[in-house]
Amino acid sequence: MPVPCVRVPTEDGEATRRRLADDDLVVDEYAITASDGDLYIPVSDPEAVPEGLDVEDFDAPERETPTTPAELLGFEPTYERLGDVVILDEDDPERAREIAAAVMESDVRAETVVNRASKIKGTERTRDWDVVAGESTETVHTEYGCEFELDLAEVYFSPRLATERHRVVEQVEDGEHAFDMFAGVGPYAVPMAKAGAEVVATDINETAIEYLRRNAERNDVSERVTAIAGDVRETAEDYEDWADRIVMNLPHTADEFLDTAVALAGDDCVIHFYDIQHEDDLYDPGEAAIREAAEPEYEVTVENERTVRSYAPHELNVVVDARLTRR
Ligand code: SAM
Repeated sequence: MPVPCVRVPTEDGEATRRRLADDDLVVDEYAITASDGDLYIPVSDPEAVPEGLDVEDFDAPERETPTTPAELLGFEPTYERLGDVVILDEDDPERAREIAAAVMESDVRAETVVNRASKIKGTERTRDWDVVAGESTETVHTEYGCEFELDLAEVYFSPRLATERHRVVEQVEDGEHAFDMFAGVGPYAVPMAKAGAEVVATDINETAIEYLRRNAERNDVSERVTAIAGDVRETAEDYEDWADRIVMNLPHTADEFLDTAVALAGDDCVIHFYDIQHEDDLYDPGEAAIREAAEPEYEVTVENERTVRSYAPHELNVVVDARLTRR
């Protein structure tokens, strides 16, 4: 549909647009369009256009503006993305349905919207979900260039740990032996293998290990990843003195597995030990537990301690990186 536009030579376009925008005359619903060396800038009031500028009717196309859930809802909803699944954390099911409908109608790439229906629970650290829109809880999530296929309803996965996992992966050296004791679908194991490590990854959740094998293939590292389903206390038995690096991402109970970690450790081994602690004493309990398990056989050097994320009021998810050097 023809709309009134200011026509200017292309080289004057940006200056003219700014001048018109200062007078609040530029119409956002239509696109600024180039044609035959001129730019056509749609304007709201031809009479108000400053003297010296030509106004003529031009068939400017309507602008395709992205529609966000916030625009549809009138408020900014909080959500996380995992592949094409959108994750909500809403107490009110009606509000969850309203947000889900807006997400599906918006330009967000989503096939499914789920709402948290329980806390993380059980040995396999999964949670219940209400599927509020769409059907499948299976998706493919990309993190730092690796693709992870997973079913949210069957396995643990938190996209919030991406930065922390990357921090660990960046320390990996070509050819090192890395043992991931609580590997899930492989968000440490797969990129560590991609960085050149020979990786052994175990998890008690058989479905997670099936996905881990698929993810190793998907990311072309299956020849460097051995994935074993079972309790790590048993699966680790074949790898005593083997590891140069150990990942222990089972906050809350990792300390119960430190004897296993020490048995896995080679002469010089870094352990990434994840913990949940009160803000008043974040690192001492983890460090003390590592020392108790490893000394005096190993000298223990804490190379790094950091907060990964907040977990609950006054409680934080932390990591202690400790180097074990055999005496
Ligand atoms: N590292 C993965 C990640 O970052 O997504 C998964 C971490 S999740 C917090 C902990 C994992 O430990 C779960 O997948 C659970 O099934 C596994 N797990 C719990 N107890 C285990 C055990 N005794 N032996 C092996 N895996 C175990």
